[in-house]
Amino acid sequence: MELAAGFATHRGLVRQTNEDSFLVRKGLYVVCDGMGGARGGEVASQMACERLAALAPGSAGKDELRDAIVEADGSIAARSLAEPHLLGMGTTLTSALINDATVILGHVGDSRAYLLREGTLRQLTDDHSWVGEMVRRGELTPAQAANHPHRSVITRALGTEGEAEPDLAEISLEPGDRLMLCSDGLSGMVADEKIEEVLLRPDGPQAAADALVQAALEGGGEDNVTVVVVDVVSDDQPGAASDETADDDTVTLGPADRGAEKVSSVPGFMRPALGMGARLGRRPPIWARPAPGAAPAAQGTGERVRWSRRRWIVTAAVVVVVLALAVAAFAVFNSSVYYVGNANGVVALYQGLPTALLGIHLSSVVELGTVGYDSLAAYQRERVDSHDLVGKEEGQAFLRGLAVLQ
Ligand code: MG
Repeated sequence: MELAAGFATHRGLVRQTNEDSFLVRKGLYVVCDGMGGARGGEVASQMACERLAALAPGSAGKDELRDAIVEADGSIAARSLAEPHLLGMGTTLTSALINDATVILGHVGDSRAYLLREGTLRQLTDDHSWVGEMVRRGELTPAQAANHPHRSVITRALGTEGEAEPDLAEISLEPGDRLMLCSDGLSGMVADEKIEEVLLRPDGPQAAADALVQAALEGGGEDNVTVVVVDVVSDDQPGAASDETADDDTVTLGPADRGAEKVSSVPGFMRPALGMGARLGRRPPIWARPAPGAAPAAQGTGERVRWSRRRWIVTAAVVVVVLALAVAAFAVFNSSVYYVGNANGVVALYQGLPTALLGIHLSSVVELGTVGYDSLAAYQRERVDSHDLVGKEEGQAFLRGLAVLQ
């Protein structure tokens, strides 16, 4: 079984930067849609592709794919917490690992994998999104979901939850199958019927990827859009894959030049495409950084909303610690002040402030004197009733003085 692939990505017509990343290597295809301001989305999506690039198609299986996704999740979360400007970053991930005639899908978020087989397009992944869950529960129709104001709210992403367990699936491939991975910049802009129509054209995978990105732009281009198309070609179809078969060692990650209007491959991955491809042999790939000085991502109304439990936990923990420190500091202060007062008719030394907070008295008697309040002269009562704060020894001296004067 031979594979032929094409890919294209575009920042769209609204966003200033492209936060999608992808990986195309013979037998390993990944699309990630990053989120989080101040370049966090780019960093997260790239980190996820970087981790999966370490997989070896042909030998890696379901467990290795799952482990790589879970590790990427942990690495992104750790970096998000360690670098304040990246706090809250995350990414979707949809990946296809092809061994022989089997594809193993690994999926978190609302990027998608589709399979075109015998003329019919089928979505292979469930969207981990709020509207996706509502559709699965029968509470929204797919049409309602497509236009829902909360359609960009995702419920699972790498880097943003304690653990983002990936959906894993294994599907047998047949000659003639066409796989397609995409970010929601395609599926949110172009109806499945139109996607099916484009994929059914007798064009190669690169032309199909380009046409789908073009369709997303014509549909509004409201989001970054990334498309990877993989054709499964039987060995006995001479020439069918000859000009678009990737080099085993070729790793392509994009978009390295995130300021570019569009990044698209040339047929075959033997040549780096438009300066963004990377042929790196068997060494670990060097991950191109976003172009310096590029504008930050637009925070428009279509910006993805993220449910980050971790952020809330961190915030709540900080609040609790600050409150605890404040209470402790107050308790130390309160135990360091004294005053002289009238304890049921007897002059006494109190520790704490002469007041109550939420019904709780902040002071208590630490030393009962020997002199009755009623026996005091007017000026002495005035002094006792003033509740002036004093030191402990000063208060004790006052009590002794009263006793002597009696
Ligand atoms: Mg997107």
